[in-house]
Amino acid sequence: MIRPFLIGNEWRHVGRPTFESIYPADSSVSAVVAESSIEDINDAISSARQALGNPQWRDMPAHRRSRLLHRFADLVEANAEHLADTQTRDNGKTVAESRAQVAGAAEFFRYYAAVCETSQGEVVPARGSYFGFSEYEPVGVVAAITPWNSPLTLEAQKLAPALAAGNAIVLKSSEITPQIGLEYGRLALEAGFPAGVLNVVTGAGESGRTLVSHPDVDMVTFTGGTRTGRAIGQIMGARARPAILELGGKSPNIVCDDADLELAVPGAMIAIFHNAGQSCLAGSRIFVQESVYDAFVSRLVAATQALRVGDPYDATTAIAPLASFGHREQIERMLETARTDGASILTGGGRPRAASLAAGAYLEPTLLATDNRMAIAREEVFGPVGCIIPFKDDEDLLRQANDNDFGLACGIWTRDHARALRLARRINTGVVWINTYKITAVNMPFGGNKSSGVGREGGWPGMRAYMVEKSYYVNTAASPVAWPPGA
Ligand code: NAD
Repeated sequence: MIRPFLIGNEWRHVGRPTFESIYPADSSVSAVVAESSIEDINDAISSARQALGNPQWRDMPAHRRSRLLHRFADLVEANAEHLADTQTRDNGKTVAESRAQVAGAAEFFRYYAAVCETSQGEVVPARGSYFGFSEYEPVGVVAAITPWNSPLTLEAQKLAPALAAGNAIVLKSSEITPQIGLEYGRLALEAGFPAGVLNVVTGAGESGRTLVSHPDVDMVTFTGGTRTGRAIGQIMGARARPAILELGGKSPNIVCDDADLELAVPGAMIAIFHNAGQSCLAGSRIFVQESVYDAFVSRLVAATQALRVGDPYDATTAIAPLASFGHREQIERMLETARTDGASILTGGGRPRAASLAAGAYLEPTLLATDNRMAIAREEVFGPVGCIIPFKDDEDLLRQANDNDFGLACGIWTRDHARALRLARRINTGVVWINTYKITAVNMPFGGNKSSGVGREGGWPGMRAYMVEKSYYVNTAASPVAWPPGA
């Protein structure tokens, strides 16, 4: 069966070329999806524009929009097992993580339902004879473009606030994970969003470029690689239109000499190996203070060697396959360069030998001893590859940790909270974790500095990002303005 895409309330597939989504655990086809043409994408944008002008959506009061978002959340929960299974079939992540992400996705819709109903404009103290207030309006037609690592949450993180703000959306999911976006399109119709409020198109980079370049798109919200983000930023900059860009990372995870290694070792494991390292937040540069280097590294290596690589549906699996075979090849090329550059492999570095894993895109969890200047320690791998780098003292650490083009996240492991805060304030990242890693919450700002992105998602600012503020001046003067001069 060919999976159609959604424009207005019409599902289209007839006469379109198709592409396959591949289950990376065994190379089987998980879905055949119709690919949107340029005309389809143009239609999706027109459909969103029409929906914005539809009084059923344009004039819907916030408390009723909020109710639709709650209904959407209910449907996400009611379809939990199906959604978790669909994501795992698309990108191979463990079904346990997909299930957790379904819960996370529902939370985005509930949280923004609440923000939608309770957000307010402002009355601004007047500086003359007028009553001044400002209120927020939807920005308009929003193009949402997403990557393959976690579509359940990354798409909910965009759809929920953009819908809460009253926009109309055209979503294009990654060509590697096309199905969750299509599921969300189905659920939006079922929840009762008017036709055209959420359109879902399919295709690869070229479809994304077509969408972003369209003159009737008012805003882009993008999560993906830094190179793509820069290309989108250029197009939106040339059109003087806003873009949220959530991009790559090469985050430092710092183990100080006074860290509790009982916490830091599992913390470092989650930071780099959760979702096989396919996380923008991955703690991929593990800085370890020299005096605890040997103790920490030997424990981390032993714990890594005990990780179970295997089937995404096996509850004991820690490392499932990478999302695609092409991605594994790219990581293997990076590992080859790392070897040539002089990195030493502490554990992993290749494909697991078990015959049962031969048909999947598996890669062993890998730890390398490197310095901070090697390509493997500078570039985002987006896989289960951690670079361990020693540091002498805090100044040496800060110099190295900040010496990277990315600035997404950072972890600090120490018993000295004052030291942690001193370090955190001087590390140029958008997120800092102290004695923990990878916690995120819907009501906390999320986003990166430097080449990790522009803008923040999450919390009230995460909804305001999809709105424009309008200022009103209402005259309260009893007499007309004295103009022209001398009148
Ligand atoms: P990607 O940039 O290759 O693709 C992301 C999306 O952009 C896909 O839907 C793709 O089809 C589309 N696209 C590709 N070229 C385009 C173009 N020229 N114009 C418009 N759209 C285009 O990224 P990916 O490989 O899918 O995802 C991995 C990247 O995503 C990593 O760098 C990772 O760090 C990043 N990421 C960032 C965050 C974050 O919140 N900062 C979260 C998850 C993933």
